[in-house]
Amino acid sequence: MTRPALISPAGGRCTLVGAGPGDPELLTLKAAKAIASASVLFVDDLVNPAVLEHAQPSARIVHVGKRGGCKSTPQAFIHKLMVQAVQEGETVVRLKGGDPFIFGRGGEEVEHLRAEGIEVEVINGITSGLAGLTSLGAPLTHRDHAHGVVFVTGHAKPGDAGPDWALLAQTARQAKLTLVVYMGVSSLHSIQTGLLQGLPASTPVAIVQNASLPQQREALATLGELEATMAREGLQSPSIIVVGDVVQGARAWAERQHAARHAA
Ligand code: SAH
Repeated sequence: MTRPALISPAGGRCTLVGAGPGDPELLTLKAAKAIASASVLFVDDLVNPAVLEHAQPSARIVHVGKRGGCKSTPQAFIHKLMVQAVQEGETVVRLKGGDPFIFGRGGEEVEHLRAEGIEVEVINGITSGLAGLTSLGAPLTHRDHAHGVVFVTGHAKPGDAGPDWALLAQTARQAKLTLVVYMGVSSLHSIQTGLLQGLPASTPVAIVQNASLPQQREALATLGELEATMAREGLQSPSIIVVGDVVQGARAWAERQHAARHAA
């Protein structure tokens, strides 16, 4: 059941909504309903504009993100806009790519709004780390290959050293875990070098750019060839990198598809 978020004195409210990885059909019914009820939507850049078709024609749509090195709207300013809109009595929907609580700073936004006395409802979306390997026909966990999965960012906050790739690789190997790296494109070299300290160069990897969208592109490689493969294939952000034996499932699926196409 949808619990109404705390209402501001002017009647405003705020919901953080996961828009999913890209394919607008991967939106949840609850997300579509929230979008339809919004009077203002603050939209991140990885959100497929097609999901805005659920919005009322009268809704105000504010784009607050820009990709790849361009200047995006400062986070503090987004916080301010959201608080202001709720206080003015608007029904605010903050639309974020994938799931609002997997990277993408949803946690920070909720903390900020709550500190202002505004309760926020959060509606999950399908995270791109999940959609990436699924789009290649393979699971992230498998009783024979992976006991679990780690979602990890390749891009830490300025001043933060970020993940210890060597430690992660050792843990993944010992505990049989799949690694799913978000925002890894700009730090590929250090990710590959670090992971090779704990995992064999032959470990299968998959790179999926624009997962679930018509323009999706992907490559299957090994950890030792990760950087060279991405460069050769020209794969760029937004991409998900999946490291682990489950990727063999994607290879098998690709081979079956290839054989079926040639048999047809
Ligand atoms: N909250 C989002 C992640 C935001 S961080 C989610 O749950 O998916 C942004 C990173 O997500 C990108 O750098 C990329 O690594 C990944 N990403 C988002 N959409 C993607 C897509 N359609 N295909 C591949 N990677 C994607």
